[in-house]
Amino acid sequence: MKYSELKKIIKRHGLRITDCRIDVLSYFIQYKKALTFKNLEDQFEAYDRVTLYRTLSAFEEHGLLHKIPDDSGFATYGLCQDCSTEAHHHNHIHFKCLKCEQLECIDDTINISIDSLPKNYIAQDMDVIIKGVCQQCNSN
Ligand SMILES: [Zn+2]
Ligand SMILES: [Zn+2]
Ligand SMILES: [Zn+2]
Repeated sequence: MKYSELKKIIKRHGLRITDCRIDVLSYFIQYKKALTFKNLEDQFEAYDRVTLYRTLSAFEEHGLLHKIPDDSGFATYGLCQDCSTEAHHHNHIHFKCLKCEQLECIDDTINISIDSLPKNYIAQDMDVIIKGVCQQCNSN
């Protein structure tokens, strides 16, 4: 993705442009799968931990990234599709590959409904992790 596009996305989410924000966003877009803080630390050694940490929390707060609940004990982040600075809107499931151990967001065209709850429950968010073998590992 072009630098100008990345800048536009960050601005649209009400954030100032910094090198770290551009780099992290660009990496998420190109990587496609979820990333942990550790992944980013390894990828961007030029930035200190605090800068990276702040970038992730700003992105989370402004609807660019969401935390994916995972039992690995590491905070894992996935790219948001169309969340705003006010709120996250998610209705998608996550897939964890048991071979490569990577997590990814499965886009919400795959319909697992949260509307099938018993009466008088109001759903706001859904955390579903399906485990198995991912596309990539399956084709190897
Ligand atoms: Zn979101
Ligand atoms: Zn895999
Ligand atoms: Zn996700």
